[in-house]
Amino acid sequence: MSSDSVSVEILSFEDARHRVEAHAARMQPPACETVELLKAAGRVLAEPVVADRDFPPFRRATRDGYALRAADLEPLPAVLKVIGEIKAGSNPGLTVAPGQAAAIMTGAPAPSGSNAVVMVEYTSLRGDTVEITRAVKAGENIVPTGTEAKRGARLLSEGALIDHAVIAAAASVGMTGLKVYQKPRVAVLATGDEVVDVAKIPGASQIRNSNSYSIAAQVNAAGGEAVVLPVAPDEPNELRKWITRGLEADLLLLSGGVSAGKYDLVEQVLEGLKAEFFIRGARIQPGKPVVFGRTGTPSGAKYFFGLPGNPVSTMVTFDLFARPMIEALSGQGLRKLVFFSARLKMAIKTKPGLKRFLPAIFSGEFEDTEVELAGWQGSGDIATMARANCYIVVPPDRERIEAGEWVAILPR
Ligand code: AMP
Ligand code: MG
Repeated sequence: MSSDSVSVEILSFEDARHRVEAHAARMQPPACETVELLKAAGRVLAEPVVADRDFPPFRRATRDGYALRAADLEPLPAVLKVIGEIKAGSNPGLTVAPGQAAAIMTGAPAPSGSNAVVMVEYTSLRGDTVEITRAVKAGENIVPTGTEAKRGARLLSEGALIDHAVIAAAASVGMTGLKVYQKPRVAVLATGDEVVDVAKIPGASQIRNSNSYSIAAQVNAAGGEAVVLPVAPDEPNELRKWITRGLEADLLLLSGGVSAGKYDLVEQVLEGLKAEFFIRGARIQPGKPVVFGRTGTPSGAKYFFGLPGNPVSTMVTFDLFARPMIEALSGQGLRKLVFFSARLKMAIKTKPGLKRFLPAIFSGEFEDTEVELAGWQGSGDIATMARANCYIVVPPDRERIEAGEWVAILPR
């Protein structure tokens, strides 16, 4: 067992999260593949985006107006001779001399001799002269060549999650395809004698398997590729067989079987497979029995999470602990968990001792956000969870939070 393998101590939420982050930060980036630019959305960048020219590549006018010499606008109003017009995309091909101006459009290159653009709103054209009623400073409304980036500059690095802005940056430097990391394969293994497949008619005391589906959807949304295994029974040999199968993937996510019950066998089976455990419970609700560990040799080590089987606990503990590991395995840099704030609509009462992540709904408009509990009936209440759009995060020392107070929320 390595030095960071730990005892059965139940950790604070923050300590538990930090343990996952510490391991996630050590992940090696996965193999690469190249995909078309638009297909790269949602993937993780595996090569830098480098400026292939200066940005902007010429002195760019940022307003429609007149390119001129700022010193010519004294005294006002000033009358200058108009020597031509420069459209966006055209070459200036002219030089502005003292007493002259050139009509110019937004995005066009400023002509030599000019050092500012005065907005068209402060001008009136009279034949081949223009009268200007407002002064400009040298440099005003012109972006000098290379201000945003010099040719060869690294605009973005490997590990960036590719969104529309990353795609725009890649397009602007002429990349028609992008090297991205391959998605990690994440095995999903639900456990429980009472759990049956959704396609079956459940018996009176059976429960349909929803966790495999919620976990798989969360895995895919986090940048992984879910591999859903059949439901394993609460029987050590079968369980070992499926856990062993699941450990062939890059990460194994189990649901159920990690509480203190006689037939909660997941940890026992993992111990038999020489697992080291880094989390064996966190002081949170829902999700207290959550488990995180690793099996195998350091070179071929595989991480696993045992998520508590109650469907809401499964979803919450995925968000809190499994997601950063999947992001790391997908080649993304580590993202710290941050909470947002919203005003509480109705008072909350809880029992102190655990950090709570309570399904909630935030609403309101513009700067005015408010949040209220989703009317959650406990860890099995899947429908309320589905209507919620965030969690209210209640610190372990709070028994009551009044309406109107600002509370931490975690969007989901
Ligand atoms: P466990 O963590 O195994 O003690 O399960 C806690 C609760 O979650 C029990 O009521 C289970 O029936 C339920 N449960 C466990 N696994 C699933 C699953 N895959 N889908 C839906 N509910 C589940
Ligand atoms: Mg169970």
